[in-house]
Amino acid sequence: MNILFIAAECSPFVKVGGLGDVIGALPVALQRLGHSVRVVIPHHGPIKDAVHGIRPLDGFQMTWNGAATRIEVAGAALDGTPHTYFIRGWPFFTPVDRFIYHSNEGIDVGRFLFFSAAALALARRMAEEDGWVPDIVHAHDWHAALTPYLLARLYADDPLLSSAASVCTIHNLQYQGWGVSWHLARAGLPPVDHPLLLAARLADNCLAVGIAYCSMLSTVSPRYAQEIATLEGGFGLDSLLHARLSSLVGILNGLDTARWDPATSLHIAQRFDATSLDRRAQNKRALQAELGLPQRADVPLAAAVTRLVDQKGPAILFPALHHMLSNAEMQFVLLGTGHHHFEQEAWWLGQANPQKAAIKLAFDEPLSERIYAASDMLLMPSEFEPCGIGQMIAMRYGSLPVVREVGGLADTVSPDVGYLFSEYSPGALQSALGRALDNFYNDPVGWQKRQVRAMARDLSWEASAPRYVRLYEQARARQRQYA
Ligand code: ADP
Repeated sequence: MNILFIAAECSPFVKVGGLGDVIGALPVALQRLGHSVRVVIPHHGPIKDAVHGIRPLDGFQMTWNGAATRIEVAGAALDGTPHTYFIRGWPFFTPVDRFIYHSNEGIDVGRFLFFSAAALALARRMAEEDGWVPDIVHAHDWHAALTPYLLARLYADDPLLSSAASVCTIHNLQYQGWGVSWHLARAGLPPVDHPLLLAARLADNCLAVGIAYCSMLSTVSPRYAQEIATLEGGFGLDSLLHARLSSLVGILNGLDTARWDPATSLHIAQRFDATSLDRRAQNKRALQAELGLPQRADVPLAAAVTRLVDQKGPAILFPALHHMLSNAEMQFVLLGTGHHHFEQEAWWLGQANPQKAAIKLAFDEPLSERIYAASDMLLMPSEFEPCGIGQMIAMRYGSLPVVREVGGLADTVSPDVGYLFSEYSPGALQSALGRALDNFYNDPVGWQKRQVRAMARDLSWEASAPRYVRLYEQARARQRQYA
């Protein structure tokens, strides 16, 4: 199949969170199964063209707001990976735009509507000029969720694109992109008139539009697929998701196991695998030295690598850590950025525990890898978690996950490798972390067995990529049925 990915992020070019990891890795796994994948993302200002060998490829005119706008297309083909296309057009995604995302609504809805329309115009051009006709248009998250709609409304009679089926994947239901009606009208595009959306007053919501119009729908773990169709987990879209339940599947994210491999990594002080776990101690010492913590192998080192937003549970993480750092012999490292008040709370935690906690308010991927390789446990006390990648990287590096039993965390972490808790409270996190510390101190052999089991987990895309292929086949069958 020819599969066109449309998304806002793609690692290694641009990554804010797990979305970037998935768009960087899943196409490679699909390509290995014999499919042809092309990825289209915005040419965000912060992308470093020279570092990634991104070169100008093409330019064409698109009508926008009643005028002709020039779309600039650049491209990169890393060894063995699918083609990635980067698009920009005035006034969006210019080299001086310092942000990947501006806000959830307002300006970003206009930016991503423009991006979605330009991505399909590019697809039309690929089909005409290279003979690469997409069988599947795969839209990721709200930023691309308008493409199934635009495909249905603008290309229904197009000889090249009309046969394409669309798939929409929800990486995080919380972000939806409200306010699209105004932008559609301004751009001269038809208003959304899907009866399901009008009835639910959701025609103004980008993600809802994608959910209603795509041929098939997926999300990034089986547990999250169940959670989002409920009132508590549905963020206002539960009834719409209910209506599309027969088209919704949960497919667990994989990990790019070539990128994240402690046996071959160039970024950590000492490489290791499950047969040489004693070497991890050197990574721990190196990280403690780097972050100004006492260099002690015997003291357990817990870590969090996270966006500091409500979803990730800072509201329970910081109170629990104030308590644990005062009452237990342990160290804590935090690497994260996010909302200002959570960054301040993190800073205070560091100030209150100078010998025990190191706080890095930055986005730093090499440092994140050193933390995964050095820490004894990784904390993810999420309020909700579509899939979560941090816990998978941690397991691969022998750092045991302490996680709340929700979404993809529940699907990937079992009690024989990690520590789970269910109530969303500082006390519940404290008690799970307490169990982990107890095992660390009192059962070193059991601890090592857990690490070996964690590292032996098959977290690769090999298991999940064929499920996407099945999803694409279902989407094509539906498309033929309704065509
Ligand atoms: P989300 O996409 O909701 O942020 P995930 O767990 O799916 O959460 O993915 C987070 C990814 O981003 C992981 O690869 C994690 O290591 C990385 N990450 C998060 N915060 C940082 C940071 N401050 N520096 C480096 N990497 C980070």
